[in-house]
Formats: sequence, C-alpha cells, structure tokens
Amino acid sequence: MDRPPKKTATAKPASPAASLKSAPVKPKSAAQQALDKLGLRTPMDFALHVPMRYEDETTVVRLADAPVGESVQIEGVVLRCDITFKPRRQLVVQLQDDGVGLNSGGGERSMCTLRFFSFYPSHQKALAVGQRVRVRGELRGGFFGFEMVHPTIKPADAALAVALTPVYHSTAGLPQAYVRKAVASGLQRADLSETLPPQGLQALQALGLPPQWTLRASLELLHQPPPEVSLQALEDKDHPAWLRLKAEELLAQQLSQMQARAERASMQAPDFAVHEQASWSAALLKVLPFSLTSAQSRVATEIGRDMAAHAPMHRLLQGDVGSGKTVVAALAACAAMQAGWQCALMAPTEILAQQHFAKMLQWLQPLLEQHGKTVAWLTGSQKKKERTAMLASVESGQAALVVGTHALIQDSVVFHKLGLVIIDEQHRFGVAQRLSLRRKLTHTQGGRQLSPHLLMMTATPIPRTLAMSYYADLDVSTIDELPPGRTPIVTRVLPGAKREELVARIREQVEQGRQVYWVCPLIEESEALDLRHATQAHQELCEALGVEQPGDDETALPLVGLMHGKLPPARKQAVMQGFIDGHTRVLVSTTVIEVGVDVPNASLMVIEHAERFGLSQLHQLRGRVGRGAAASACVLLYEPPLGQVARARLRAMQQTNDGFELSRIDLELRGPGEFLGARQSGAALLRFAELGVDDDVLAWAAEQAADLLANNPQAAQRHMMRWMGGKVDYLKA
Ligand code: ADP
Ligand code: MG
Repeated sequence: MDRPPKKTATAKPASPAASLKSAPVKPKSAAQQALDKLGLRTPMDFALHVPMRYEDETTVVRLADAPVGESVQIEGVVLRCDITFKPRRQLVVQLQDDGVGLNSGGGERSMCTLRFFSFYPSHQKALAVGQRVRVRGELRGGFFGFEMVHPTIKPADAALAVALTPVYHSTAGLPQAYVRKAVASGLQRADLSETLPPQGLQALQALGLPPQWTLRASLELLHQPPPEVSLQALEDKDHPAWLRLKAEELLAQQLSQMQARAERASMQAPDFAVHEQASWSAALLKVLPFSLTSAQSRVATEIGRDMAAHAPMHRLLQGDVGSGKTVVAALAACAAMQAGWQCALMAPTEILAQQHFAKMLQWLQPLLEQHGKTVAWLTGSQKKKERTAMLASVESGQAALVVGTHALIQDSVVFHKLGLVIIDEQHRFGVAQRLSLRRKLTHTQGGRQLSPHLLMMTATPIPRTLAMSYYADLDVSTIDELPPGRTPIVTRVLPGAKREELVARIREQVEQGRQVYWVCPLIEESEALDLRHATQAHQELCEALGVEQPGDDETALPLVGLMHGKLPPARKQAVMQGFIDGHTRVLVSTTVIEVGVDVPNASLMVIEHAERFGLSQLHQLRGRVGRGAAASACVLLYEPPLGQVARARLRAMQQTNDGFELSRIDLELRGPGEFLGARQSGAALLRFAELGVDDDVLAWAAEQAADLLANNPQAAQRHMMRWMGGKVDYLKA
C-alpha cells in the first residue's frame, strides 16, 4: 500500500546562505521527488534514514598535515578568485592557510585550489579576495598542488561543530542540508513509542542493551551523536543504539512472517485426502522404472499431510540437483488430480517446462486417459492456435495438469478449479511474479474462499540462519539423499590453455555412447558476445572431432549441437530434443541449460571460464551430469590469473559434491544477498542487522515475535507498520 507523498513540513527550500554551502537547491517539488526516490515519505521513513557515515567537523586541519583523499576542513585567506573558461567555465579560487604544520616544508603545501563548476554571485561574494573562510571537502593532490572541488564554505568565524556531522545517503540535486532538516523533522514527528514488551527489553539487556536505549534515544544518538561518542563504535555498529535498531528490525521481520503464517493458517484450502487403495499415486509408482528413495518417500508424506489439512500448504522442497524432486512433484499432482482439482506446474525456462511436460506425459498420460483428462502446456512462444486450444482445456477443467513457464500466470489463463501450484526452481522467479500468482490463486468456490496449496522446489539449499530469518513463513522439506547407483562426479580444474587435451576425452566418451555438455560463459552484458563465443567453441569442437558442420538445414540434428538463447524457440526445442534422444552427442551451450535439464546419459561436463560463474551456478551446471550410473566427470576450465574468491570457489567445487556444503561456503564467500535472489528486490533485505553477525539478536527476535503476537497483537501491528509499512506484502511472496 503506497501512501500519497506527503509534504515535509519543515523541509523548506534552503536559504541563500545554505545554497552557498553546496550545489543550488532545486525547487521543492524536485527535492520532494528525490526524497520519494529514496523511499522517504513518512516521518518514520525519515527517522529510520540513519546516516551512512559521519564527518568530523570539530577540527580544522593544516594543509601541511592534511591527508590527501580524505574529507577535511581547512581555513585560510582567499588570494585569487577568477572565472576561467578552460577547459570549461569554472570559478577558480586560490586559498592560503596559515602554513604552519608538522610537515610544513614549503609554500605550496599551504595552498589549495578550489574549483566550482556551477556557481552563483553569492559564491564570488563569499570568496572575494582577502576573505578569510573555512572550507571542507575531499582533498585531492593534483598536479598543481592541493585541490578541492565544490567544497562547502563557511565564514572563518563561524563556531566549530561540537559533534560529529551525519552524512546521509542522498541523490543528485538533494543537498545534505535539505536531507538533514527533513530527517530532524521526521524524527520529531515520528511515533517512536515503545512496542517491545518489558520482558523482551529485559532479555535484550543480556545481549548488551542497557535500559536507557529506547528507540527514540537510539535514533537521536545516531542522527545527532553527542561529542563524546566514538566514531569507531558508530562505524562498527556496535554501539547500543545500533543493537536497539537491529533488534527492532529483526523483530519486525519475524512478526511479519509469523503473521503471514497465521493468516495462511486461517485460510481455507481444498482437501486432497485420498484413500490409499486405487490411488493415482500408487498407479504412478507402479509405472516408474525405479522405487523412491526413503528421503523421497518421507517428503512425499510431509507434502501429502499438508494437502490433507484445511489450510493451504506453503512448503519449500529442497533437494540437491539430481535428488529427484520431479517425481515428488508428480506425486503431489496425483493427489490433487484424484481429488478432482487442477494442478499447475511452473518452471523458469521454456526448456525446463518442455522437459517437465514430456516427463509428465510419460508418467501420467495413461492414468489421465483412464479418467478422461489431459495434460496441457503453456509457454510464451507457443503458436496461437495451440495456445487457444490449451487455454480452453484449462478453462473447462479437462486439463487436470498444466505445465508451463510464467505464461501460466498471465491474465488470459483461467483455471477451472486450481488446487495445487508447484513452482520449480522457485528462486528463479521474481517477487512480482510470485505475488501475482498468489493474488490470482485465491478464488471463490461454492461461496467459500479457497486458496490452492503451494509447493516450491529448489536445488539451492538455504542455510539455516537464512531460512530462519527470511523464510520463517515457509515449511521446509529436504531430500537429503541421492538415488542409489550414482557414482560421484569427479571434478577437475584446468587452465583454459589445456583445453586441447579434452578433445581426446570427449571423443572417448562419445565412442562409448555417452554424451557431453560444453558450457560457455555468460559474458557480462553482452548476449552478442556470448553467442560469438559459443558459436566459435562449437566450430572448434566440430573441427577437432572431425565432425562435419551442419549446413543451413534447420531440421538437421548434428552430432555436435549448438544451443543458445537467441535461437528461435522451435529450434531450441529441436536441439534439446536431439540431445535428450541421444542423436546429438555433444551439446555446446550457453548457460540456458543451467536449470533442471535431465539427460541421464550425459557423463562429461566441461565449463569454460568457470571462474566467471557463481558457486551455486557451477553446482547446478555440474548437476546435469552424474544422473545415471556411468562414472561422470566435470572439467572446470579457467583463465588465469584467478582472484582469491574465484580460486576458493573452484577449490570448493573440486572438494565436494554436496550442495549443502557448497551453499554454506557460498554464504561465507558472498554474504546472504545471493541466496535471497529475487526476494532482495522486494526491498525486504535487512538494513541494520546482518545475518551471521547478529544471529543472537535473530534468535531473540524469533522468541519475542511469537510472544508479542500472542499477548499483545496491537503492539505487534504497530511495530510491523512502523518498520515495514507497505513492504509487508513482499515478504509473503
Ligand atoms: P532434481 O531434484 O534435480 O529435479 P530430477 O527430478 O530431475 O532431479 O531427477 C534426476 C534423475 O533421477 C531423473 O532422471 C529421475 O528420473 C531420476 N530419479 C528420481 N528418483 C529416482 C530414484 N528414486 N531412483 C532412481 N532414479 C531416480
Ligand atoms: Mg529439477
């Protein structure tokens, strides 16, 4: 819920004196817009806009002692003040300070040039020759001596600051002075009354928060630190004021997730309880060429239990690549379909959706036919005629299972009776997509509001603290075991210069009837370059293997295939099918094959420029091999020199095949942002607390949130609104 932008009462356009200090102030509406852009609207927004750093204006330094590259305050007499036109129009001022300092060595160390590229007569007046002024800015050591660009100016007789000066995050055209005033005003007007229960505050004391640090006292300290406060404690965020903010923030996060959970628990959902005899799931299990691992059985039971309850399921199924999540999804679909409901299975890419569709047909078609039902399929690239037919079957309910990409959630798709939604590789979808899905899903059935069950699947396991913090509203099932009979993948790391050695290896695999992936890197911001690289690699491999390059015949399925994002969808599908069927032995590809693709006969994966990939991406890619019984290998080619992090990533890949372990290492190397993926763009990332650092506060918050919701729901609401405002919704996605 967005509030209309309010006018900030005291944020007047700065006075001429203020405009002298910095760039000219834009008219109010522009500044207002700039504040809006920073997300600053309500008094609380301003109160929580804590400084990103502080400047020490309590002292004036001598130029001779001043550190170049840092922001300093100096004082001196203007010797020269001219407008010059080369290289562009500017006001150039020569300032001389008293020149006595510890390192005072020569005249030039007491001179500083000030440059203004935009200036007003007021600048010239304040900087007239002979004036004594105090200026502050970043000191640069240019070729012609010291320089400052656009320093702020004060008369030399102005009182020195007695405390640290806050510096706020701002944008172009929004002067610090303006933000500072708006913040001060917000801080005064915001409702900062206590929301924490006494026992919660008491528990915080044990974590180092003395009772005097109320929210107001903490914010006031951070915005206007008194002279005695150490800059270090503020910068290290270990002042009690910081602890208070972190605790409040984490509490809000926990509250909103627990509330989302409670809301869901109060919603109605279809009931899929089925009788074991003659169940569709049992029929599916019979046609499978394998039996479930015990981990698969366990999670299937957990999911089944959720779907037999009256509240909508909200479950994340995590399992390493190749752990067999798809069949678990199919089992869940069986329960929904048998109970007379539709199931939607959504995948992040066309290739993956296509593959799921093929698999579902293979597994479920006979069963569905018996009951006069079908599997439908929806993607963005579909032919109009086919799409129309599919849409009709979805709307009539004839399609019991609908597989597709996010085309599934478009407005034109009308479900007859949607009871279960399964999202594969859920972290690949954006917050907006998941929200729109959720909105679309709640529907009225016979006078009752019913929400479908939701099952999300991911191969990127979420570390525990992260799960606790960001996914506290999710139930999690984990497949912690791979199907039997797989030989572990052997991973080798090789410099790119040795790629020729690989050709013999590839030929050997092909001669043994196996298949090979050759993955080319994503080149930042350039699909065209990606393509060129993949095309070239394809050509080289064709030559090295002595395979004839396919001509322009679009239908030919070559021994060495080429797959990239720019191919027309139909061609993509054909190339992929060629590889799945085994005609194509070597598939040169950009990272489009990253997620979910399943070709058990593939036994060798080569990844070029492996140093450019993230750890979870490498693991996902590697997971494309080792899906059958054949011994499989992954070769990571890199281009030296390797950075420290890249080296650590490649080493980790070589040392373990365990997705959970890799995910832990990844968290260590990169911080939590990576894992959150799209959730990050929901602006829901923590601003004050830091996972891994403030885990004790997180545990405190989890405990308090449960307590507060149960015993003081009003305070809980006030706390959430204060901290999250309109963002609460995002957390539910
Ligand atoms: P992921 O969890 O990565 O989505 P998939 O569902 O694609 O994994 O399964 C990987 C491969 O393992 C598929 O070929 C699938 O048919 C096979 N598979 C799944 N479960 C078993 C099992 N219990 N025993 C043997 N093979 C299995
Ligand atoms: Mg999968």
